[in-house]
Amino acid sequence: MSDAAKKYEFKAEVKKLLDILVHSLYTSREIFLRELISNASDALDKIRFESNRGTEIADKDLPLEIRIEFDEKKKLLTVTDTGIGMTRDELIANLGTIAKSGTEEFVRLLAETKADPGNMIGKFGVGFYSVFMVAKEVIVKSKSFLSTETGVEWKSDGLGEYEIAELDEKFPRGTRIEVYLKDDASEFAEKWRLENVIKKHSNFISYPIYLTNEKINTVSALWREPKSSVKKEQYDEFYKFLSYDSDEPMDVIHKSVDAPIQFNVLVFIPKKSNDFFWHDRENYGLDLYVRRVLIQHKNKDLLPEYLSFVKGVVDSEDLPLNISRETLQENIVFTKIASSVSNTIFGYLSDKAKNDPAAYNDFWKEHGKIFKLGYGDFANRDKFLELIRFNSSACADKDELISLADYASRMKEGQKEIYFITGQNRDSLKTDPHMEIFSNKGLEVLYLTDPVDEFVVQSLHTYKEFEFKSAESADSKKLSELKNVEEKKSGLEDLNKDDEKHFFSLLSKMKTILADRVEDVVKSARLVDSASCVVSKDEGLSASMQKILRMTNKDLAQPKKIFEVNPDHKLIRNLIRVFKKNANDDFIVEVTEQLFESALLQEGTLEDPHKLIQRLNRTLEKSSDWYVEVNKFE
Ligand code: ADP
Repeated sequence: MSDAAKKYEFKAEVKKLLDILVHSLYTSREIFLRELISNASDALDKIRFESNRGTEIADKDLPLEIRIEFDEKKKLLTVTDTGIGMTRDELIANLGTIAKSGTEEFVRLLAETKADPGNMIGKFGVGFYSVFMVAKEVIVKSKSFLSTETGVEWKSDGLGEYEIAELDEKFPRGTRIEVYLKDDASEFAEKWRLENVIKKHSNFISYPIYLTNEKINTVSALWREPKSSVKKEQYDEFYKFLSYDSDEPMDVIHKSVDAPIQFNVLVFIPKKSNDFFWHDRENYGLDLYVRRVLIQHKNKDLLPEYLSFVKGVVDSEDLPLNISRETLQENIVFTKIASSVSNTIFGYLSDKAKNDPAAYNDFWKEHGKIFKLGYGDFANRDKFLELIRFNSSACADKDELISLADYASRMKEGQKEIYFITGQNRDSLKTDPHMEIFSNKGLEVLYLTDPVDEFVVQSLHTYKEFEFKSAESADSKKLSELKNVEEKKSGLEDLNKDDEKHFFSLLSKMKTILADRVEDVVKSARLVDSASCVVSKDEGLSASMQKILRMTNKDLAQPKKIFEVNPDHKLIRNLIRVFKKNANDDFIVEVTEQLFESALLQEGTLEDPHKLIQRLNRTLEKSSDWYVEVNKFE
């Protein structure tokens, strides 16, 4: 390095990441080589792209390739490419900072989970720094494709600083990375080990990789081969290469289309959904090739975002090689390919759902969370409706799933709505008072336990001619006209005329007590086992939806509810007796308040539980007096 070397400090997030990488021993540290080779391959893609669109480039006759050399004695490994290279500023920006959003979150996760970061690093793409798992010093020499630029050298031990200097020597376009290996990583300067790692992780790189002078990767475009000639192992190997997944894929979809537009598609559905998805939303897309030449890595317009769990490649003969990434979306051939790719995936999923429902349910459990965000895709609405799954009151347990077609096939005569109820989990929904009338009438109710589910059904609005309807706002009068599955369970006689009059006066009294906290107090037609509940006005949003909205807008007022009271409940019958004797008895106030607040608590909208608890404790105290007295404990 010349005298003009200048020292720089790594940015804070890089320091943190390096600290984790340098000081730990990981079993999968061989992946550093995959990362260096993949960066070299990206750099070669970039130069090929520039050359295809006629940009002037330095050393334009250099073959596009990656060379790997090693020196066992010096414990030195070098990876050289003839790619796009880097200028001084690019070296500082690319190898001194991490430009990705979500990096902090990633580093935190890496530090916290203490998991082997091999796969996480690849998936997140902070690949270069992984070299410090094996290196005590790294020297990067690079020369940009711009002929006005000179070569630069970057050097670091990964501990906090790096140096940059001009390169004196005449250096050709591209990048050379010299890795001075730690003592315990000397295996990466041995031929058999290097060959093994390259074959394992980098076999499908589309440029030749030479180890010393021997070409060792296959360089084949698997997606161009006829389906019948590709073995499962080849698909698996290609998928692992593409996705950084260590597992095999759940599904392989391989198709070749000739007319009206020629393209090949080879995509995979992973066995596991990517936990990192929400922090790393940008990291999806299909690789777009034109005549076997990679035009764009992770193109995001070939698939809608809700199919982003799909990984793979698309290759077409019918797009121009020099197509610019910016104008792709406006290219008619491209948009036709894109919609055809989506159709292929929809077709595949429909067949899977039909032919192997158990496997389809497994798919749904992994990827349904992302897939259901497709509720707004009107072009695919009908297919989407057939592919979404729910748990429902007709399911035997929380793992069973049903389709809307299943639901429709079980609908009662004259039933025009598909009922749903939202809440935390299946157990709490099963005991929700709003469910009572549905159980009593034998009506199936969809259990929506994912917060996004309600957006999904509200946006879809209908399935076939049936409207989605929240159990909280369903018209209980209409429902009560349907036949009961079981007979009344309360064991109470019907109210006589006189008591019924008193019951309605009691409701008015309750309304005075609750005043402007309720919209109304009415006789309930939906309750069987519970004394009371609150319901939304028709067309109102369900309680859980309101909760979500209030999370984002704190000032949103709590909409008033209708308080429903069950005249066929023991507690209410006793209350009628008290009311007949003394309409102003404090006990009526006490019970009304308690029932109302309990109903709010149950649906999760009670703001302050203190009064409810004090009241409850008062009641328990009194009942303990009564209990001791009745049982003659004294
Ligand atoms: P990623 O490759 O996911 O962007 P890295 O940390 O591996 O993350 O690399 C950071 C950046 O450094 C790359 O985006 C690229 O711009 C640059 N880079 C790394 N290696 C090379 C190389 N061999 N040739 C040219 N640029 C490179």
